[in-house]
Amino acid sequence: MLKGIGASPGIAIGKVLLLKKEELNFQHMTITDVEGEKKKLHKALEISKQQLEEIKKTSTEQQRSILDAHVMILEDPELISSVEGKIDSEKLNVEAVLDEVLKMFIAIFEGMDNEYMKERAADIRDVGQRLVMNLMGKEQLNLQELKEPVILAAHDITPSDTAQMDREMVLGFITDIGGRTSHSAIMARSMEIPAVVGLGNITEEVKMGDTIILDGKEGTILINPDSSVIEEYAKRREEEEEVKRELRKLVNSDTVSKDGVKVELASNIGNPKDAKKAHENGAEGIGLYRTEFLYMDRSSLPTEEEQFKAYKEVLEIMGDRPVVIRTLDIGGDKELPYLNLPKEMNPFLGYRAIRICLDEKEIFKTQLRALLRASVYGNLKIMYPMISSVEEVRQANEILEEVKQELKAVNINYSTEIEVGIMIEIPAAAVISDILAKEVDFFSIGTNDLIQYTTAVDRMNEKISYLYNPFNPAVLRLIKTVIDNGHKAGIWVGMCGEVAGDQRLIPILLGMGLDEFSMSASSVLPARKQIQGLCYEEMKGIAEKVLEISTAKEIEEFVKLNI
Ligand code: PEP
Ligand code: MG
Repeated sequence: MLKGIGASPGIAIGKVLLLKKEELNFQHMTITDVEGEKKKLHKALEISKQQLEEIKKTSTEQQRSILDAHVMILEDPELISSVEGKIDSEKLNVEAVLDEVLKMFIAIFEGMDNEYMKERAADIRDVGQRLVMNLMGKEQLNLQELKEPVILAAHDITPSDTAQMDREMVLGFITDIGGRTSHSAIMARSMEIPAVVGLGNITEEVKMGDTIILDGKEGTILINPDSSVIEEYAKRREEEEEVKRELRKLVNSDTVSKDGVKVELASNIGNPKDAKKAHENGAEGIGLYRTEFLYMDRSSLPTEEEQFKAYKEVLEIMGDRPVVIRTLDIGGDKELPYLNLPKEMNPFLGYRAIRICLDEKEIFKTQLRALLRASVYGNLKIMYPMISSVEEVRQANEILEEVKQELKAVNINYSTEIEVGIMIEIPAAAVISDILAKEVDFFSIGTNDLIQYTTAVDRMNEKISYLYNPFNPAVLRLIKTVIDNGHKAGIWVGMCGEVAGDQRLIPILLGMGLDEFSMSASSVLPARKQIQGLCYEEMKGIAEKVLEISTAKEIEEFVKLNI
């Protein structure tokens, strides 16, 4: 059994198709016909774009967005002018020059601190390979034409490979390199194709036609296992499918405990496509739309119109279900290189989120305008991130009011029923939640940051990850305080941090009186099933006892024993 990183859950059993990328050997030659080389470049750019457009025809919407990003790279004026400039100055053949320029671009992205931006180097490498192959007149493997179901094994599955994958023919994939946040991993999850990445040199260890068992949840694979093992996994796969089929029956049911307490199960999203997935998975609303993704992976701020379109799309997908859209939460691990913000010693404690928005008022106002304009298309709620004081809420609300007045003056409609809430993710906000509750319509507890700030444990630092524990009594007490203070003031309290979808903690949160749980789309149905099997009164008693326990470990054990 080999262990890698589980990138997309599920069990797949099948024969290997080894995808070996061709070595692209070309010579470095001095040339005289500078214009001829440039012509070759433009021809290859055109062919590459046509190929991508062709693949797009049979792709899903999410796949198309990746392919669009590839087309954008091919149209990038900086890339094209760098290559042309170098052909002029170095008098080298276009293949050699392009290779050099691509390497430079890839190095820039790989050198970025941010994991997400780092992974974008894969996109440049991918589309660059296509371009060089076309320059050299080489054929590209078309994954849309597979004749029998296979498990793909490759050094790295590129985003355009995933965009061509047919769910019926690709049972799963395994790779030498890659992490959970790579585009291919994200795509695999959204297409529900089981995948294990980062297996080292798996492409050297498997051969064409080997039988493989892949367990995407555990991140493991077995090569040429005995038939008894295959049978065992086939049985497990069938059981998993059965569980999924059973869960699907709950898509339209309410989330009510055995003793009749109803809560809302919502989903966290990063873009309009996620909203579709959330809706299909029975989410009763969107509890957190992380709008910063609209601002990332590009070279300038999104326009009001672009934002308006995205917000409107999400609101329309969700119909009359509530949609909590969070205003820009940039900073920390989410960087925007084009804002040219100075490097900080402690970015998580620095110039970020609402702090930037209150300072760079125009950025904030553009977003608020887009949100207000979109509000007539659904049930919008606006949420401010990283609030640490009453003053920040008041200032943000003043700006919101200003934007409303400006829209009114030019007769642009917006809903008059928009609730405005805040994230409770800084301990200061939790401590004064009784005061904050009087200023807003709802709270959403952001445990990802609340844990990190309460316990002084960097959420990205693996070395101290053992301290990053939602069972920490300090964290649980703060959560309870926030819920109680919200309820005393008559407002609803939700949670959009990862804890909300954690089945070990859901019973305690239910017992504490949490009104709304927001989680990834795939967690919604399992959470609904769990809550439908719980008794609120019983969980209330358990939650009270939990708050008296001294250590995280004891709490975890108590919960395991009693639920
Ligand atoms: C949180 O901090 O819990 C949260 C939901 O926000 P993010 O993960 O985007 O910081
Ligand atoms: Mg946060």
